[in-house]
Amino acid sequence: MPRRLFVTTALPYANGPFHIGHIMEYIQADIWVRFQRMQGHEVLFVGADDAHGAPIMLAAEKAGKSPEEFVAAVAGGRGKYLDGFHVEYDNWHSTHSPENTELSQDIFRKLKLRGLVYTRPVEQFFDPVKGMYLADRYVKGECPNCGAQDQYGDACESCSTVYSATALKNPRSALSGARPELRSSEHYFFRLSDPKCKDFIRQWLELPGRVQPQVFNKAVEWLDGEGDKALGDWDISRDPPYFGIRVPDIAEEKYLYVWLDAPIGYLASLQNYCGKKGLDWRKVLETHEQIHFIGKDIIYFHTLFWPAMLHFAGAPYKVPDHVYVHGFIQVSGEKMSKSRGTGIDPLRYLELGMNPEWLRYYIAAKLNAAVEDIDFNPEDFVARVNSDLVGKYINIASRAAGFLSKRFGGRPAARVVSPLLERVRVAAPEIARGYEEREFGKALRRTMELADEVNAFVDAEKPWDLAKSPDNAGRLHEVCTVSLEAFRMLTLYLKPVLPRLAARAEQFLGLGAQAWEDVARPLSPERAIGAYQHLMTRVEEKQLDALFNIESVPQPTAPQRHAEKQQHAAKKHAVSDPISIDDFNRLDLRVAKIVRAEQVEGADKLLKLTLEVGELGGRTVFAGIKSAYAPGQLEGRLAVLIANLAPRKMKFGVSEGMVLAASGEEPGIYLIAPDSGARPGMRVK
Ligand SMILES: [Zn+2]
Repeated sequence: MPRRLFVTTALPYANGPFHIGHIMEYIQADIWVRFQRMQGHEVLFVGADDAHGAPIMLAAEKAGKSPEEFVAAVAGGRGKYLDGFHVEYDNWHSTHSPENTELSQDIFRKLKLRGLVYTRPVEQFFDPVKGMYLADRYVKGECPNCGAQDQYGDACESCSTVYSATALKNPRSALSGARPELRSSEHYFFRLSDPKCKDFIRQWLELPGRVQPQVFNKAVEWLDGEGDKALGDWDISRDPPYFGIRVPDIAEEKYLYVWLDAPIGYLASLQNYCGKKGLDWRKVLETHEQIHFIGKDIIYFHTLFWPAMLHFAGAPYKVPDHVYVHGFIQVSGEKMSKSRGTGIDPLRYLELGMNPEWLRYYIAAKLNAAVEDIDFNPEDFVARVNSDLVGKYINIASRAAGFLSKRFGGRPAARVVSPLLERVRVAAPEIARGYEEREFGKALRRTMELADEVNAFVDAEKPWDLAKSPDNAGRLHEVCTVSLEAFRMLTLYLKPVLPRLAARAEQFLGLGAQAWEDVARPLSPERAIGAYQHLMTRVEEKQLDALFNIESVPQPTAPQRHAEKQQHAAKKHAVSDPISIDDFNRLDLRVAKIVRAEQVEGADKLLKLTLEVGELGGRTVFAGIKSAYAPGQLEGRLAVLIANLAPRKMKFGVSEGMVLAASGEEPGIYLIAPDSGARPGMRVK
């Protein structure tokens, strides 16, 4: 039975563009959705902007726009990020919409009818200059505990005491600087502390698989809180001026708190989509599993209020079936922070022409089902993309396709029996389980292990040797067929993560869009493959430098710059003395694979490289590239070796040749690598 799934991601606050944390969540959900679709399941995947609240009202005012104009401008910028990273929502909507107004007021009315909404007066600071009530974060003053100046109205940054804004000494409005007045206003509350609410939430949480164990523990801790920590009722209204949805059925101007209407935006987006498609959204809601992907910072809202609101509002609303929580993304162990400059700007990533599928792959490789932070490490990023994705996976196709096209009209051999292919095929359920359980890292690790096996097979069979004698044509045909068939299955396993690459690979293999069950449908000898075109380039170090705005060169002064320019020009024009082609041909340049790279004890500049050079066998070379490369980045890469350079005895051992690298006036060493598809041992001419 195909599943029917209604999948959402957390609604981003519409006060600015997406950051990398948003993109990570969308990629995670998008991979899961694509996987489900490959399984033949039906998925509706929707998102929306969270457009209401005081921060947006104030940001709009600052920008000289109406809140509507302000959120519309932010919404207008969403597409380039989503398209850019191949995140394909069925619908993107806004909480500032007729659907959301209607649904939010409906849910509010139903909760009120159930006796779960009541009013009581709340004393709150009021800014007489701005003419508005002040949320705690808009009040500043002295900490009532330690006396620290300039503290916000919810907690002291100096002594970490938590208090209410009214406890601050010498309070002032952070908006106008005015001394706020204490005023009383009638607020609406949701009776979250009601035993029937708490019982329901506990029961909802306890269903196995509903939420992750860490999330369950956190939610139960809040439910069971006592004294100061007891679960309180929830203030769900705000006074004007406020950008939001009116509390219905009263003459007085009051608004629903943004956190009440925000998650209802999931349903509003679904309803909006159904309207466009002529579907009955109530029916869709009833028949689909409701699944939310969110970050760990909003567990409270999604595991307490949200299921309780939906449950007690009753039909047509339905409680979420699953809430899947992820951690944050950090850069090299540091929390994302614009001010510290360690953030990755997703738009800059795209504008630099970096491949979005590199990031999808990297993030997927790091993700698991736990609520753990993941780390973006630039060196690790380069290694995984270049060694795994390009070096292991893409390499398989580039090695096999040429022979098949040139020698066998592009047609795979018939009836190839191969234990290797069997092993790749039977891994399908295990890899599927990885995706299903959001253990993407596991699924990708298994896929890359299989890629290793395929490469080992090619290395052992040496198609380039088989190709030398017509007697081996049969075996060559088989070896290439096995390689490409394995590549086809690996492509299918990677497809949820790399949708664009997979589509291009399918096209080259002469296949339609592959579903998961197609793993058992091998390439047909009846159909020729297309010409192989390069499927993915490697990531370059300098792209990451540009991404992180790294300027390793101190900016020279003007006279220095002038002198440098002159020197540079002089050197540029001074070409070395001419040589004949025969001179050049005396150099035996070969493609070499770096199988190991190690630090050399006591050497400041050297790395010890163990190379594999096809028919020439293994070589050890000491290369002065330590300043530019970590050993882990090099393993699996191809380089160019001067193979006939006389061996040189060095302090640390004998160097049997030299690898080529580029360098200029500025610091930086760039290893020369052949384009993907070159094999160890090939001559460079
Ligand atoms: Zn304090």
